[in-house]
Amino acid sequence: QPRAIPRLDVVVIGGGQAGLSAGYYLREAGLRPDRDFTILDHAPEAGGAWQFRWPSLTLSTVNGVHDLPGGFGLAESLGLENSPEIKAAHAVPQYFHQYEARFGLPVHRPVSVRQVSLRGGRYLVETDRGRISTRAVLNATGTWDAPYRPAITGAERFTGLQIHAQGYRDAAPFRGMEVVVVGAGISAIQILEEVSQVAHCYWATRSAPRYHEGPFLPEHGRAAVARVEARVRAGLPPGSLVSATGLPPSEVLERARSRGVLDPKPMFTEMTEEAVILPDGTAHRADAVIWSTGFGNALGHLAGLGLFNAQGGITMTGRLATQVEGHPRLHLLGYGPSASTVGATRAGRAAVREVLADLRREG
Ligand code: FAD
Repeated sequence: QPRAIPRLDVVVIGGGQAGLSAGYYLREAGLRPDRDFTILDHAPEAGGAWQFRWPSLTLSTVNGVHDLPGGFGLAESLGLENSPEIKAAHAVPQYFHQYEARFGLPVHRPVSVRQVSLRGGRYLVETDRGRISTRAVLNATGTWDAPYRPAITGAERFTGLQIHAQGYRDAAPFRGMEVVVVGAGISAIQILEEVSQVAHCYWATRSAPRYHEGPFLPEHGRAAVARVEARVRAGLPPGSLVSATGLPPSEVLERARSRGVLDPKPMFTEMTEEAVILPDGTAHRADAVIWSTGFGNALGHLAGLGLFNAQGGITMTGRLATQVEGHPRLHLLGYGPSASTVGATRAGRAAVREVLADLRREG
């Protein structure tokens, strides 16, 4: 006798900021943990992607971690440890862990969702630990599991060290090396600033880094979010929030500037065993290449739903553009305009309201 597939109202995929925010609002709306809804997360511990961030990211060097809903914030969670120098990879997971316990959120980990498909008007969620049938899916799988690296001819021939920023821990392995740092975002600059203290760096950027002029005000953040939101409502790929804001001023940026390491050079066009080939044909010898070229969205498990259009985007709708057009019961949290800690928190609320209103219409 095969085991019956559990039937729930809502499955939240991902237990980072967006997934926990959704969980909070589902409980607040009266849904019962593991009877009406559940949260599946494939990370080993609480903390979403924060548990994997490199150790030099501290609460003073990140852009700011917005509190989850419900009045239990990061500062309360840290208590006596509330120091700006505390590692984000320690502080945020500790906060999320306490938050899950405080609000009784049913997060199951490690559970990896492999595929979501539509079956008779419900979603079938297939995981490495079994299947669940659900009326609605709130997808909150973030970006960390989808590192992006541009395809460069010859990259596989390079015999030196190659890592993506996702695998970066600290500068130590690069000491004394000739290192190429690729990318023009916040992470590239942080890595460049650290590695250039122990190694000689060539900073390769596809286009000139765009620095945000003057202080970074809340309206600048809002304008950037609005631009990304307009893109996803039009069905375009979201692009990163930083590409819409420019690089905000920061201590790390200032330090790198004053040390003279912010010297962007052209992106290379090819790689050989031990060099990168510059557009003018010269070879620049390299021992290591660090790809700080950003992240896509970890949506591979939704591939069977055919959400992507010819432009490579997903057309989003709903109040905060969390709802997939044509799928009133499928929301993407932490995608596009909500790919920030504040955005993820708000997206949880908006998506829960919309999806529950839709479920209740059906009864
Ligand atoms: P995540 O925290 O990535 O959580 C997603 C969860 O889903 C993970 O636990 C993952 O294991 C799980 N998951 C993924 N795929 C599956 C699957 N198939 N099955 C089951 N589970 C799955 N934003 C800010 O607002 N402030 C900052 O200071 C800031 N700093 C950042 C620094 C770095 C280096 C990076 C890369 C990003 C930073 N961001 C920052 C952006 C940040 O990623 C988001 O703001 C936010 O933390 C994302 O939350 P999330 O819940 O969407 O994703």
